[in-house]
Amino acid sequence: MSIQIDRKIGKDDLIVIAGAGGFIGGSLARYFHNLGYTRIRAVDRKPLPEWYQRVPGVESISADLSEKENAVRAVEGAAEVYNLAADMGGMGFIERFRVECLRSILVNTHLIEAAYRAGVQRYFFSSSACAYNTDLQKDPNVRALKESDAYPAMAERGYGWEKLVSEMFCQEYWHERGLETHIARFHNIYGPNGTWFGGREKAPAAICRKVIEAKDTGNLKIEIWGDGAQTRSFCFIDDCVLGVDMIMHTDALIATPINLGTSELISITDLVTMVEEIGGVKLERSHNLDAPKGVAGRNSDNTFIKQVLGWEPSTPLRDGMAKTYAWIEQQYADRKAGKRVVQD
Ligand code: NAD
Repeated sequence: MSIQIDRKIGKDDLIVIAGAGGFIGGSLARYFHNLGYTRIRAVDRKPLPEWYQRVPGVESISADLSEKENAVRAVEGAAEVYNLAADMGGMGFIERFRVECLRSILVNTHLIEAAYRAGVQRYFFSSSACAYNTDLQKDPNVRALKESDAYPAMAERGYGWEKLVSEMFCQEYWHERGLETHIARFHNIYGPNGTWFGGREKAPAAICRKVIEAKDTGNLKIEIWGDGAQTRSFCFIDDCVLGVDMIMHTDALIATPINLGTSELISITDLVTMVEEIGGVKLERSHNLDAPKGVAGRNSDNTFIKQVLGWEPSTPLRDGMAKTYAWIEQQYADRKAGKRVVQD
């Protein structure tokens, strides 16, 4: 399907991507570069050699955007700003480091104010399904979450509240000051170039790595966090960047949070089976019931996105996981061979 997007900016207008040293920000920089945008400024607090992707021709700056002066410099001359910067990770990280997650509020607070003062045309904020009321997510057979389910608020401790409050900043900068803002609530984005080890990785990458490791070492076992009955939907990175582009350039979505995820619900147990099939191996399973596992179930209700955009993320999980597995397998082999991989 070829999708027409009226971006309202020229190919030489400056696009600023915060958090571009990470998974989604880096993929977004590559996406706009491939579309022919000639002036992209990528910013991340990590030193440049640690960025997951460096796109040739893209201006890459290492700067901590929780510092006001850096935020001001980062958005200078920008037509559009995409905020993908946050101190975050999978459940293992966000349940343990709530203060770090909350402190990401500094990034959005400085960046949106700087963007407003610099007169940028459009500002994007990457929110999360963790902003939803956790009381609605206690059952693995969860009702899919629709946008209005964020209120009354009972977001995920730490990370989810930061997202909810930052969303509110975006909404009020539009209503009170006229800065055009767009907000997507991502539901578990996965794919090549994401975090796959080190403690911040999420379930899809962690499971791929564990299966690859088991095959490589011959220790044919896998530890699963929780009882495996917890359910989620997972959205492939290509759908995510296309969705961000569409959401950013749709007037009906100004200051209006919208789900960006698939509605293909799967349990962690079934996800493990899927990855075993991709890897062509069967492992002995054990369950770590003390490990962080997040809410019991979470799915994306895509009624709104289908209505507004006539589109929803559509990459089948099996296809996206096969690509992710292949990428991690290569990373694993490179690392084992002593080559430096992006996250070392
Ligand atoms: P990521 O960790 O790969 O990328 C985030 C990047 O932000 C990192 O490279 C980090 O160094 C950078 N960063 C953190 N603090 C910074 C600061 N003070 N100044 C400059 N850069 C800073 O994560 P990701 O998966 O690419 O996530 C991107 C955005 O999407 C985040 O806002 C995240 O909360 C949101 N999100 C992601 C998912 C997902 O499944 N990946 C789900 C929901 C929401």
